[in-house]
Amino acid sequence: MGNTIQILLYAVPIIGILAWYIKRHTHKETVGLTSLRQATEEGLIEPPTLHPEIDHRICIGCTNCVAACPEQDAHQVLGMIRKKAHLVGPTNCIGHGACKTVCPVNAITLVFGTARRGVDIPLVNPDFQTNVPGIFIAGELGGMGLIRNAVEQGRQAMGSVAKLVSKAHQNDLDIFIIGAGPAGFTATLAATESKLRYRTVEQEQLGGTVAHFPRRKLVMTQPADLPIVGKMKFKEVQKETLIDYWREVEEKTGIEINYSERVDAISPLPNGGFSVVTSKGTYSTRAVLLSIGRRGSPRKLGVPGEEMDKVVYRVIDPAEHRNQHVLVVGGGDSALEAATTIAEEAGTTVTLSYRSDAFSRAKPKNRQLVEKMAAEGRLRVLLSSNVKSIRDGIVDISLGDVTESVQNDAVVISAGGILPSAFLKTVGIHVETKWGSE
Ligand SMILES: Cc1cc2nc3c(=O)[nH]c(=O)nc-3n(C[C@H](O)[C@H](O)[C@H](O)COP(=O)(O)OP(=O)(O)OC[C@H]3O[C@@H](n4cnc5c(N)ncnc54)[C@H](O)[C@@H]3O)c2cc1C
Ligand code: SF4
Repeated sequence: MGNTIQILLYAVPIIGILAWYIKRHTHKETVGLTSLRQATEEGLIEPPTLHPEIDHRICIGCTNCVAACPEQDAHQVLGMIRKKAHLVGPTNCIGHGACKTVCPVNAITLVFGTARRGVDIPLVNPDFQTNVPGIFIAGELGGMGLIRNAVEQGRQAMGSVAKLVSKAHQNDLDIFIIGAGPAGFTATLAATESKLRYRTVEQEQLGGTVAHFPRRKLVMTQPADLPIVGKMKFKEVQKETLIDYWREVEEKTGIEINYSERVDAISPLPNGGFSVVTSKGTYSTRAVLLSIGRRGSPRKLGVPGEEMDKVVYRVIDPAEHRNQHVLVVGGGDSALEAATTIAEEAGTTVTLSYRSDAFSRAKPKNRQLVEKMAAEGRLRVLLSSNVKSIRDGIVDISLGDVTESVQNDAVVISAGGILPSAFLKTVGIHVETKWGSE
């Protein structure tokens, strides 16, 4: 009897621990498999840029990498399948690289692109200058993601620019900074600190990609040094707080950023400088800093009235469109998501215009939602239609031989984008396409 009690005393906790371990392990496997299956079904299988490649011959399945990924709380990025780590949410990976650091057996390599999808990385010297002397690159465009890297590179690149422009030249500006994401914003502060004659233009708004994060996204970053103001101490911060902080710095320091101005062309001048053509003018400058990130520029429709303030290329907050007549143009996932989220806001009348006769490029989930909302009368869909012109209070849309004038307060154009690599090539900057290499 005494022996049986003793055995039970040891056996019960051991069996309990074993059962807990098996349950936990099975749960992790299920989560990993489900995420990978879902990503594959939705075609979300290509990581945008830097991401881990896991050598399954070496991986010992310790799960350290899964636990270390800072994005994991928001979405599944890494997961366990058959006791090995896998990238189960490839499009959710933003290249933190925390997984590589914690792997005890060096099973992880951080690579750009995959065998199926190449990623263009411009060639940049250690001083951030490209093969075109006088044109510099900082931030994610150069390949390294993350806010802290962009801030650091924006600051350092301006140090190199300051050396270059210390020699006399005949251009209006010392440096022309393109983009006001973390890299361009920091570069602008550094240019002000170094008393350079600069101009910063941003086609959209302060914050770059950060401004496009989902509402209240927890931004993970490391403390970084901002010129003039000192340490940016955040480690974990909501997107809105970070943008407000940058806005406050912008106001306090008096730096100047021209918003809603987009650079369309850069060409060399005989004096060694550059002519920069924007949507609002032409400038001559000794040097150019490309801090344009990797998202590219939205494709325009090229119709009369497109320059009006009511036209936007991305929806930041659908609630801004409450009580408005909104036209969404496009047939991809972002157009369908824009149309349905705006249509859910109170008092909106949403029209979705697409030039083809079906939404064949969009995910089934989005197509079904559009069909449902259209059937319920919450969204009007105009297939095989083209926007002809945008006017005050009205948009003109052609449907075959007929042109219909629709009441309108806002236009959202989601017609795809022009990738930065295409722009770089027009400027003569060499890019290397990486197919899953470091
Ligand atoms: C969903 C998501 C979540 C992320 N989460 C994090 C995170 O938690 N922590 C972190 O550290 N990083 C995160 N990142 C990565 C981070 O956002 C980027 O690495 C960082 O914003 C890069 O900064 P950047 O200044 O190089 O480029 P961007 O932030 O992309 O800014 C580039 C700017 O240039 C402008 N521009 C482009 N072309 C032109 C033109 N022709 N004329 C004028 N302006 C132009 C754009 O409008 C844009 O504002 C995340 C990225 C994504 C997509
Ligand atoms: S940290 Fe390394 S060994 Fe551990 S699961 Fe991830 S890849 Fe495998």
